[in-house]
Amino acid sequence: MRQEKSEVIVIGAGPSGAVAAGLLRRAGRAVTILEKAAFPRFVIGESLLPQSMEYIEAAGMLQDVVEAGFQFKNGAAFTCGAKHAWFDFREKFTSGWGTTYQVQRAPFDKVLADAAARMGTDIRYGHEVIAVDVTGEKPVVVVRSEGEDYQLTGEFLLDASGYGRVLPRLLNLEVPSALPVRQAIFTHIEDRIAQNTEACFDREKILISVPPDETDVWFWLIPFSNGRSSIGVVGRREQFDARDDKEQLLDRVAHTPNLVKLLKHAVWDTPVRHIVGYSANVKTLYGRNFALLGNATEFLDPVFSSGVTIAFKSADLATRALLKQLAGEPVDWGREYAGPLMVGVETFRAFVNAWYDGRLQDIIFFPDKAPEVQRMISSVLAGYAWDEKNPFVTRASRRLASMEAACALVA
Ligand code: FAD
Repeated sequence: MRQEKSEVIVIGAGPSGAVAAGLLRRAGRAVTILEKAAFPRFVIGESLLPQSMEYIEAAGMLQDVVEAGFQFKNGAAFTCGAKHAWFDFREKFTSGWGTTYQVQRAPFDKVLADAAARMGTDIRYGHEVIAVDVTGEKPVVVVRSEGEDYQLTGEFLLDASGYGRVLPRLLNLEVPSALPVRQAIFTHIEDRIAQNTEACFDREKILISVPPDETDVWFWLIPFSNGRSSIGVVGRREQFDARDDKEQLLDRVAHTPNLVKLLKHAVWDTPVRHIVGYSANVKTLYGRNFALLGNATEFLDPVFSSGVTIAFKSADLATRALLKQLAGEPVDWGREYAGPLMVGVETFRAFVNAWYDGRLQDIIFFPDKAPEVQRMISSVLAGYAWDEKNPFVTRASRRLASMEAACALVA
């Protein structure tokens, strides 16, 4: 088998892989990304959070993203029957970016990957990692491309393979998620929503709609800059049936009054897809010569659009630790990578749990929230889930429980 060498090997050219490559290239390290697909390729996960802009900027990719013409985003709106609430991410507790974009992932991921390539990353499309060996001093991967296999040895291996979950599968690191098995059914539409004529709709915000009679089901409506939108519905697997995806999605929309109104002229011109059981977890986020990034780690739930932000944060933390290690300094990956990353993951976990048991929905739709509370929640929803000065980060579950009790008392 052909043998090749690199310094840092990255599996996957999605957001976590591309940003990690950008950060490493900026520090002068050699990076090879092995990507099994040809780009652009479809991935779900289209609403970014403002915190993610910090990492795009740090990776030297900000201009590429800004100039790509994606839909500007400044917040999130929530609707359930007659109840409506919204958060403007510029009004938040934590300082930092307050705006971001809603992106079709195929071009967005290509923009990031092209930026990484421009910065000198060796990106190999159509190269699939089929085996790994991390038992020796240096990690070795076996790569298949056009029916031929070769071995690539590096100093360190970053698994940014997302839903491919290469190291969790090959190293037996998978553990089941504690979250129920949920399913999403989604598509892209020509939305034909006339701006300003529909109350409660703002193209610059993701719209989360909850059917009044089924509050653990929710829809996303993510408008793009070209008159199209992404729409999807999420629920527990048993809340869906064996019917065709399109039939189920249209049926669910037809029973959600605000969506009926908003989408009355929409053209449903794109195949409808589904993804089931997307929540995942792992035994460890790192080893002696490897680390897991983004969706290859733990993935919770799409409700707060946190996936890409967590992917970027993982890339940022892991590359900091890795740069020290490559420079010969000692690194405690638990304290410098896994621990800090989990601060934000735990914040989002508390928010996800409180969303599905209804506590967070009560708070979000409560009309008289104290402005400071609105700003603290806005901060987390904007992705600032690692700011330990925010009480909704450090004591997320307790804060959400006490807030919910206070809202219930007043209501
Ligand atoms: P990915 O984007 O999955 O990229 C991984 C790459 O690795 C892919 O290009 C793949 O081809 C490649 N790869 C896989 N296996 C191999 C292999 N063996 N060899 C080589 N290459 C390989 N997040 C948000 O931020 N906002 C949202 O609105 C949002 N909505 C979502 C809705 C749903 C229904 C779901 C399920 C998720 C959503 N997410 C959202 C999460 C988001 O999809 C992910 O968090 C994000 O894509 C993770 O990025 P990544 O770089 O870790 O992995």
